[in-house]
Amino acid sequence: MSKDYIQRADQVMANTYKRFPIVFERGRGCTLWDAGGREYTDFVAGIAVCNLGHASPEVSRALARQADKLFHVSNLFYTVPQIQLAEWLTRHSFADRVFFCNSGAEANEAAIKLARKTFFDQGNYNRWRIVAMEQSFHGRTFAALSATGQQKVREGFEPILEVFDFLAFNDIEKLEAAITEKTCAVLIEPVQGEGGIRCPDPAYLKAVRRLCDDKGILLIFDEIQTGIGRTGKLFAYEHFGVKPDVMTLAKALGNGLPIGAMLATEKASAAFTPGSHASTFGGTPVITAAALEVLRIMEQENIVKHCRKTGDYFKSRLTWLKDRHRVIEEVRGIGLMLGIKLSEKGAPIVDQCMEKGFLINCIQEYVLRFVPPLVISREEIDRLIECLDEVFAGRS
Ligand SMILES: *Cc1c(COP(=O)(O)O)cnc(C)c1O
Repeated sequence: MSKDYIQRADQVMANTYKRFPIVFERGRGCTLWDAGGREYTDFVAGIAVCNLGHASPEVSRALARQADKLFHVSNLFYTVPQIQLAEWLTRHSFADRVFFCNSGAEANEAAIKLARKTFFDQGNYNRWRIVAMEQSFHGRTFAALSATGQQKVREGFEPILEVFDFLAFNDIEKLEAAITEKTCAVLIEPVQGEGGIRCPDPAYLKAVRRLCDDKGILLIFDEIQTGIGRTGKLFAYEHFGVKPDVMTLAKALGNGLPIGAMLATEKASAAFTPGSHASTFGGTPVITAAALEVLRIMEQENIVKHCRKTGDYFKSRLTWLKDRHRVIEEVRGIGLMLGIKLSEKGAPIVDQCMEKGFLINCIQEYVLRFVPPLVISREEIDRLIECLDEVFAGRS
C-alpha cells in the first residue's frame, strides 16, 4: 500500500525532498504508525516541532473549538486568540511586541526588514549590512537563504542578496572586525541547529551582546529551533545571560501547525509602522488558539523542566555510548537538542535505526541529531540507546 502512495507521489510532487520510503498515518505521544501499521519511536519530532508529541488531544480540542467559531478574517481586524498569544509571549520573554507569520523563514524575513528599516528611519541610509555566521541556517526564502552560511543551500540560486557578512561561529575576535559602519545587525542562532548542533562558549554571546551595544546595532537571535523549551529553558538566550533585541520563533510554537513569530523590544519594534510589513495568514485565530493551548500545556505540565532533566539523562547515556564506540567522536548539545559527531557518515546508521523502529536524523553528513518530543521518557531513551549500541557494535 505504501509503495503505491510513494509511486503516486513521485508522479505529482515537486522533487524537492529526499524522503524515506515511509508513509505515516497516525501518531500519539512519541509513537508514529505507518500505513502498514508499523510502529516507530520518534526522535525527530518533525524536526524539533512536535514538543508535546503527536496528536495532543488538548491541542486538537482547542483547534476544533476555535475552528467552530472563526477561521480567518485577515489582519484588517482584531481577533482574540492572536492578542492572547502575543500577551503570553511577551509576558514570558524579553520582548514587548510580536509580529505573527507562518514559518521560520518568514519570521527571519521580518527581522531582517525590521533591522534595515530601523537605520533607514534614522537617516542612516548606508547601514544595511548584516553579520551572520558560517554554518548557520535561517530558511529557504531568498533573504533567509542569503543569510544562511552553507554553500549547499545557496548553490544554483546565486547571485544571492549581497547583504550578509559571514564569519565563524564562536569567534569573538573576528566579529569585532566584521562589524563596520555599514552593519545594522548581527543575526545568530544561540545554538546552531542544522549546522551540526553547535553550542557557543559560555562567554561568547555575552561578548556579542556587548559589541552590538557598543556599535549601536541590533542583536537578532534566531530561536526557531532552540525556542519553546527545546534547550531546557523556554528560550535558549536564558542559558547565556543575554537578551537579544529581536528574536524569531516558529517550529515548536504550533506543535506542528504552521506559525512563525518575530518578537522585539519596544525600541526595536519602532521601525514597524502600519504598512511596513504584513502577512495574510499571520496569526490567524485557529492557529493562534492552538499555539496558546500548546504554551498553556507546556506551562501547566512543567515541560521545560522535564526537558532539562530528561536532556541531561539522554546526554549522559550518549556519553556512555561514546565510551563504548570509537566511531563517536563527540557528544554535544543542550536540553533535548542533542547530537553525536561520528567519524563516518551517519546515513547508514539512520537507516538501521529505522529498520529497528526508531526515527533519528542525520545532519552535515556526520552528525546524528536527536530532537525528540520534549515529553519523551527515560524508557524510550533507554530503548534508543540499546538500539544504537547494537547498530554501532554491528559495524565495528
Ligand atoms: C527550521 C529553521 C528555520 C526555517 O524555518 P522554516 O519554517 O522551515 O522556514 C530557520 N532557522 C532555524 C534556526 C531553523 O532551525
